[in-house]
Amino acid sequence: MKRIGLLTSGGDAPGMNAAIRAVVRSGIYFGMEVYGIERGYAGLIEDTVVPMEMRSVSNIVQAGGTKLRTARCLEMLTVEGQKKAVDTLEKHGIEGLVVIGGDGSFRGAKVLSEKYGVPTIGIPGTIDNDLEYTDYTLGFDTAVNTCLDIINKLRDTMTSHERVSVVEVMGRHCGDIALYSGIASGAEIIVVPEIAFSMDEIVTRINRSRANGKHSNIIVVAEGVMGADDFAKQLQAFTTHSVRPTCIGHVQRGGSPSMADRMLAAQFGNKAVRLLNDGIGNRVVGIRDNKIIDMDIIEAVSMKKRFNYELYETLQMISM
Ligand code: ATP
Repeated sequence: MKRIGLLTSGGDAPGMNAAIRAVVRSGIYFGMEVYGIERGYAGLIEDTVVPMEMRSVSNIVQAGGTKLRTARCLEMLTVEGQKKAVDTLEKHGIEGLVVIGGDGSFRGAKVLSEKYGVPTIGIPGTIDNDLEYTDYTLGFDTAVNTCLDIINKLRDTMTSHERVSVVEVMGRHCGDIALYSGIASGAEIIVVPEIAFSMDEIVTRINRSRANGKHSNIIVVAEGVMGADDFAKQLQAFTTHSVRPTCIGHVQRGGSPSMADRMLAAQFGNKAVRLLNDGIGNRVVGIRDNKIIDMDIIEAVSMKKRFNYELYETLQMISM
């Protein structure tokens, strides 16, 4: 394969730039020409294709966001849009494509490979950690660390005033950001889309912790369950302790990637290009049991994300 393309799609995630760098540099190492497609599938349809050189990716390993920018593109769901995307690839002689994004982006990649025969490799770039085939997605670690930084600060002020902090984190269908930030910040309670919650039980846990000498409480709520404002209002009706909501919001998506995400980016990007260089397409790369793996894209997108109940129980046992 002599010429490959690269795009970032869906929600941005810290580490996307480091992955872009790894793909471009690995491609150049193998003697390929690498083309960046700006604004995800929208750029593929509108033909915003730019050649990427060694120096195009200088000084971005540490940068948040994505240099290629990203978009959500409804036209890619239509046959007409998909044909335009394939036309752009053909026009530029692009023989293989790397797609960095989440579940939706992978579905687009699957269409390109399955229906149109474009060898495509998916790199899991999303803060949500909602893909079953990989233990971690790119950006998740940094996003959780951003949450921890904020929750640490909230803990200071909540303890001084003996309050209950309700912290909303991202996660519409997947509670992993809440689960990991809850455990790592020492929150007493997490509320996730995968598990039904009871306000009575939450109040019981708060009262028990106060009786045990605690001066404040932290409850991490995934956005898919309820917003922090609504949750705090509902909880306040059940307790005399002062309840304060905080929505962390889009800061979770930004910032310099952590060491863990930069390592994933380097390895995912390199693995994706090695596969294309070997003439292999229609795969996704990931990490399982600390080893970089690849898997059929159709199989990967058909897997349903499972919640880690053991970690949830761990939180319940150690947070009192
Ligand atoms: P995140 O997990 O951060 O939200 P994502 O990749 O899942 O990222 P989506 O908005 O779901 O984000 O998908 C990104 C883009 O992928 C869509 O805007 C669309 O262009 C394309 N896409 C999604 N589903 C399909 C599909 N079934 N067929 C073709 N293209 C698709």
